[in-house]
Parts: sequence; C-alpha cells; structure tokens
Amino acid sequence: MLRTHTCGELNKTYKDQEVVLCGWVHKRRDHGKLIFIDIRDRYGITQVVFVPSVSKEAHTVAQQLGPEFVVRITGKVNVRPDKNANPDVATGDIELCATGLEILNPSEVPVFEIDDAAAQPSEELRLAYRYLDLRKQKVLNALRVRHQLCACIREFLNAQNFTEIETPVLTKSTPEGARDFLVPSRLSPGEFFALPQSPQLFKQILMVSGLDKYYQIVKCFRDEDLRADRQPEFTQLDMEMSFVEEEDVFSLTEGLFQKIFKEIKGIDLPIPFPRMTHAQAMAQYKTDKPDIRKNKEEFSFLWVVDFPLFKYNEEEKRWESEHHPFTSFRAEDAQFMETKEFDKIRSRSYDLVLNGNEIGSGSIRIHKQDVQKKIFDIIGFDEQEAERRFGFLLKAFRYGAPPHAGVAYGIDRLVTILLGLESIRDVIAFPKTQKGSCLLTEAPAHVDQKQLKELGIMVINKGGAS
Ligand code: ASP
Repeated sequence: MLRTHTCGELNKTYKDQEVVLCGWVHKRRDHGKLIFIDIRDRYGITQVVFVPSVSKEAHTVAQQLGPEFVVRITGKVNVRPDKNANPDVATGDIELCATGLEILNPSEVPVFEIDDAAAQPSEELRLAYRYLDLRKQKVLNALRVRHQLCACIREFLNAQNFTEIETPVLTKSTPEGARDFLVPSRLSPGEFFALPQSPQLFKQILMVSGLDKYYQIVKCFRDEDLRADRQPEFTQLDMEMSFVEEEDVFSLTEGLFQKIFKEIKGIDLPIPFPRMTHAQAMAQYKTDKPDIRKNKEEFSFLWVVDFPLFKYNEEEKRWESEHHPFTSFRAEDAQFMETKEFDKIRSRSYDLVLNGNEIGSGSIRIHKQDVQKKIFDIIGFDEQEAERRFGFLLKAFRYGAPPHAGVAYGIDRLVTILLGLESIRDVIAFPKTQKGSCLLTEAPAHVDQKQLKELGIMVINKGGAS
C-alpha cells in the first residue's frame, strides 16, 4: 500500500504517529510561511500543514500544488489546540504536519469545483466530466447507498434459499411494452439479437427447470422515448418463485423492504402493506399509483391489485396485455374469455407503489400451454406468429411447468426515493441524458465502414427516424 491510513481516519488517538496519506488536493491556503492543504479521498478530508522548519523541501513542493493534484504525504499527527478544532469533519481534532510530499500526478484545473457546497454546474458538464462529479461526497454517497441496498437484498434472498442466476443479454425480444434495442449478428447476416426488456422468459423457464427460487440484480433495456425520468438501460431486482400465490410474493417483499428500510434508513416499516384494487385506485385517486401518504414525510407503500388483463389499443384496433402476455387471470373471470368481454377480465398482477411511484410489478404466471396460446390469440398473434416468437416457451410448458409467479423492483428509483433525490440519474454511476446519449463516452457514435460492411449493414438515413 502507498498509504498507512485513509483521509477520513485519523483522530486524537493517533497523536504523534508517523503516517502516510494519499489523496487529492481539495483546498490549498498559502499563508507564505505556512501552507495548509486539505487532502481528500473517498473516506474524508484531512488538514495538512507544511512548515519550512519541519521540511523545507516539502514546503517548496507544496507551493506548486493545484486543486485535484494527486499526492502522497508523510507526516506526524498533531492534535490541534481546541480553538482550531473543526467539529464539522471527522478528522477535525488533528492535523498532519508534513515531513514529506510527493506529487503522484498533477491535474489540470478542474472544470468545476469538487465541493457539494459550491454552485452546481450544469448537468451536461457534470456528466461529461463524470469522474470529477463522482468525487463529490453527495454523488459518491448515492453509489455507496446503492451498493448497500444490493448487498442487503442479496443477504436477505440468499438466506431465503434463492439462487442468483445470470440470464443472457444477447437474446430474443421479450414484450414488456417498449421498443427493443437490436444487435446485428455478424455470424448470421440479416439476423438480430434483442437486448432484454427484462429476463421474463428466462426466469419462467428457470421455474420449468425446477430452480424454485430465482433472483438477479439485472440490467434491462427499453428503447423508449425518454420522457420524465427514464433511462434506456436500468436495473431491476428480478425474482421468480414456484408453487406460490400472491400472498407469498407479498410477504416475501414486505420482509425484504422491512430489512432494507431498517438497515438503510433505520426505520421500522409497518407490515403488511395496505392493498387497493385498480378500480378503487382509479375511482378514488384517478391514477393506478396513488400516493396515500397523509403526512408527506413518511414512506408509504401500497399494493395495487386486480388490474385489467387487457386494454384496448384504439389506434391499432386490437386488445393488448395491460402487464405482459404471460400474466395469469382470476379464475372467476374466465367466463368473459368465452363471451369475449375482455375488458372484464381481472389479471393476477400486482404493483408495488411507494409514495406515488410504481417501484415494482409482477404477476402470477400462466403455466399451461393452451391458456398461453389463447392469450396470444386474443392479442393478435396467430398460431404461426406465436410459434415464431415464443415457441420455445410454449414448448417448455409442455414438459411439466409448475405454477409460478414473480416480480421485479426498480433499483434506480428505489435508491432515489431512499435518498430523497430528484432524478434516477443521481444514483447511476454513468447515466445517459434525456436524449439517451452518454456525454462521457459520446455514445452512441458512428462506427467504421468496415464494421458496417462485416455486418452487412448500410446506413440509409443519417438524419434519424423519418
Ligand atoms: N418482467 C416484468 C417487468 O419487468 C416484471 C415481472 O412480471 O416479473 O416489469
């Protein structure tokens, strides 16, 4: 290690010790004889003083330091006199009296100040220089909380005997109501992979395989117009279980969220969460994700159930799935299938709403081939089309598919709400802009003619969609 301690670690108990710190020059104050710098790393900030009588050489080098230079400082821990102590920082009782200074790397003058308290630069600038932005405590903290959330989820589900399984990223289209991102195949010219809108079909197939309890913290991709606060790639906690009913999914979820809120916010969440039917939510709140908080400061969860199975697409004059076509429906509503009163069929899907945000949704699945075929038929996939798109699922259902159900929770939104932040972009290390581009790498970008040629692709309209 190049250092003996971190910049957030030293206090009075280290009095008179020789230590080595590494980090970035946060602030420099040159008082001529004395030069003070604050050295910063992920863990905190430590004040360092350079005194010519202690080390002439270190003092001379310290004169050249600029903001964000990377340095390695050797020194002795001095306890500050009470009047000089800074109660606002963890290391405020001490300062390091430098005996040596090495510049590990200089820095250009940063394009904005690395300081939570300073005026916020524009989001464009922050994203283009994300590595500087991520040096700020507030942004860094969001990533730490996100990490803590994922660790907490894994701990809970592992203890419940779930298996974490990776599903493919290069796959076939799964309908979740959005446009697919396509990836051309070089080895099969003219054919394409789709990036998964969710691992829906794979997780159901894992249930057919007998895995019983699956989860994955997984990236999903939806090529939507990025209204409001969406990202083309986002993260879900995806789960699936066999031989379960709604109550099992609800109680598992409630236990999970209790643990999350206890560990991250120190809050005891009351369970079970209240429930409301879709019809009731629409009648009373005119939305399917009502914010039922009385006092806007508390967190309030709500299950919304009994969504309609289908909705009518006026433009295309056809019925489509309200959730996705693998969702089961209430047995007592099966009669409306026969009478073709499709709007009367209630699904067995559920949404979890937190403070008026939909943070998760899932359903009891169809596990019988004939029922699944029927749904495909209603939403306008004829036998051939259903076979072409989902033949592999229908086939798997012929080999002993157990009753199963699942749910997926949006990790980005959850962290945003936990931290009381504005946008999911604040909790993603390298987010895309509202226009779906990455300002850091400048993706998407043109590719070489040679690459296109290998793929058998020709760009016919550089102006974008027509
Ligand atoms: N695949 C669904 C989604 O991504 C969730 C589920 O039904 O489990 O919204």
